[in-house]
Parts: sequence; C-alpha cells; structure tokens
Amino acid sequence: MYRHKSPSLCGYCLKPGRGFFVRIEDKVWASCSIKHMDKIKERIANKESLGINAVSNPQGVDYALKQVKENYKSYAKKNGSWILHQWDPMDKKMFFQIFLSHYLSYESNLADRGMDGHK
Ligand SMILES: [Zn+2]
Repeated sequence: MYRHKSPSLCGYCLKPGRGFFVRIEDKVWASCSIKHMDKIKERIANKESLGINAVSNPQGVDYALKQVKENYKSYAKKNGSWILHQWDPMDKKMFFQIFLSHYLSYESNLADRGMDGHK
C-alpha cells in the first residue's frame, strides 16, 4: 500500500483537492476546503452517492457515432442482425469500447485545444 496515495478530487464537489483529507475507517477522501470536509462526512454518514459526476458532450457523441458507422455495419453483418441486443455479448462490448475510444479521443482533443464557437 502506498502511504501517500490519495484521491485528487474533492469527494463533495469534484474540484481539485487542496490538501484536506477525510479519513473514515479504512478509506480516505480528498477535499477542497474545510467546509467540504464536513459535507463529505455528512454524505458518507447518510450513505449518499455522488451520482453522475461528469457530463457528456452531444457534439462528441455525434462525432463518435459517425466514426463507428462502419464498425456497426460489420458487427451487424457478422451477427446477422441490426439489433444490438441480438449481438454476441463480446461484439457488443467491443462495439461500445470502440465508440467510447472515439468519444474520449475527441474530448481529449477538446480538453487540450479548447472548443470553438463560444463567444
Ligand atoms: Zn469541494
């Protein structure tokens, strides 16, 4: 176990942690502030989950859909069906892996270079 291994993001608001930590039993959460240390303790005591903690970009989804069109066709052909639920589970998994790789590559590029069209 790494002694100094700790999370980077605040366990309440997901902003970068600022050297505050909350330890409960054998777990540790990072915190951005003293105020959020209390919020984290409350959240854990109430067994509340953070839920969805990232948003997806519809433009990135459009991009990824366009990229996987040929993969979709070839998996549909291989499985003899256009209906995803009828595909072999491994093919379905591979298809989503390819989709997500395209989506994440697109988003990595936006994170690096910034997104146009915001005035
Ligand atoms: Zn916070």
